Amino acid sequence: MTPCTQLTDIPDDVDAVKTITLSDRKYHLWSDEAKSLREKCGVLGVVLPPKASHQWASMGQWLYYGLYALQHRGQESCGMAVFDHEQLRLHRDMGLVNQVFDAPKLAEMVGQIGVGHTRYSTTGHSVLDNAQPIVVRTNNGPLVLAHNGNLVNTAELQAKLPDDVRPSEGCTDSLVMAALIREALRPLARPTVDDLLTVLKELLPTFEGAFSLVMTFGNCLIAARDQHGFRPLCLGETDDGSVVVASETCALDIMGAEYVQDVKPGEFVMVLQSGERLHHSYMAKPANKTMPSEKFCFFELVYFARPDSQVRQKLVYEYRLAMGRQLAIKSRQLHPELVADFVIPVPDSGNVAAVGYSQHSGIPYMEGLIKNRYVGRTFINPTQTMRERSIKLKLNPMARLLRGKRVIVVDDSVVRGNTSRKLVAMLRQCGVAEVHLRISSAPVKHPCFYGIDMSTPDQLIANKMAVNEINDWLGADSMLYLSEADMRSAADGDPDFCFACFNGEYPTDVPAYSSEELLAL
Ligand code: AMP
Repeated sequence: MTPCTQLTDIPDDVDAVKTITLSDRKYHLWSDEAKSLREKCGVLGVVLPPKASHQWASMGQWLYYGLYALQHRGQESCGMAVFDHEQLRLHRDMGLVNQVFDAPKLAEMVGQIGVGHTRYSTTGHSVLDNAQPIVVRTNNGPLVLAHNGNLVNTAELQAKLPDDVRPSEGCTDSLVMAALIREALRPLARPTVDDLLTVLKELLPTFEGAFSLVMTFGNCLIAARDQHGFRPLCLGETDDGSVVVASETCALDIMGAEYVQDVKPGEFVMVLQSGERLHHSYMAKPANKTMPSEKFCFFELVYFARPDSQVRQKLVYEYRLAMGRQLAIKSRQLHPELVADFVIPVPDSGNVAAVGYSQHSGIPYMEGLIKNRYVGRTFINPTQTMRERSIKLKLNPMARLLRGKRVIVVDDSVVRGNTSRKLVAMLRQCGVAEVHLRISSAPVKHPCFYGIDMSTPDQLIANKMAVNEINDWLGADSMLYLSEADMRSAADGDPDFCFACFNGEYPTDVPAYSSEELLAL
């Protein structure tokens, strides 16, 4: 058990990030070190009813189940901070939720208010210092912060901090946000929740990019979402009056909470210890202008979010089903001559779209590839031979059923193309007669700066080749992507999505990796 920690881990090197201006747009050039800090994560918060203090002993269990449901949003580290109005208990470590927390640790997490986090980062900065929740000290107790998303103006924000507390090495945008809030409260002898409210109204509009935040300070839980609403954040309530805030509704389900509403873009919600919720908008409406529309990340629907989570009044499952149907419609239009024996998904990412494809086309659905559920993201020091076989370790084709057949293979996306290439070769090796690849999203051509870990532009296959060339490189008999219009129509024409990784239209100023790439934009 780590006692309440100070924010000593904020480093001092602003040079990790530089800002330049080109054609009236600002770009922040991230060093190799800094760019590897891009995160996609899960956040969670709970306020138990004040009178049910006997339940406070099970706060650890509550958070544990919620974090378990958010494990897909981050597998590198996780943590929880629990407050009982006197003491803050914090435990964070590297690993999966069930590796980091055992029964004795959970039993120590007693309190009325809790914050949890699951974290994913790209390689290189997989260190405990970056695990969350983050805790900073104020003159009136600790402030806890958990963040999902990525800011695009971290350098500017860092520069606003006094030299002696400015983060440097290993710095994340989350640490910068926490430091800014702490510094804004520092002059106050005994900051209150009202003071925090004032500070958040001033600071949150200056945080550009993606943030879904869960914080606790002074007997209050706070949930905040950026003005574009890039990442999800929802509110739920249990029968006994507990309030839950979570990245996805699948966490509410396991915690027995009914979904109430999303935290709106540009809003923060204060949940008092009584359970009362106070909604505050922090974006002033510009004179004679409408507020910017929501820009929810479409890639959450394509790949990242769990199918059983609800987004904008529909299950992610329903969106994926519609994307699969759309793919079948398009396939029939463009390849009317195509006859196939089976539709097979690439598990698990292609499962739902393959169902939609099969339902619409009438081609039987079959699980031709069996996924080993115990293979993690990485292998420990694989040899070259093992690396080549890595796809087989993860996915095994049932050759007996597939031999001589014409198959439609459905996956959610092609990023670098490596997975699909190995997959097609593997299917050919086991005697499949024809492989027709169907991808339930548009070609990914642009990196994401808002928290989905995509490759750099030069690694994205759709940046290097036209679709027919990709088809040849992958070795498929035919290949089809959805277009942006197809994806929009699968979402019933709902305009409030960010498609930046597909069309390069970023709703904010964005960082670039190097000046060469920038000039090529
Ligand atoms: P590749 O084309 O080899 O880079 O891999 C694409 C596969 O990775 C797709 O089947 C997706 O299901 C999955 N995928 C897509 N985006 C991501 C991401 N950001 N992180 C991890 N896996 C992803």
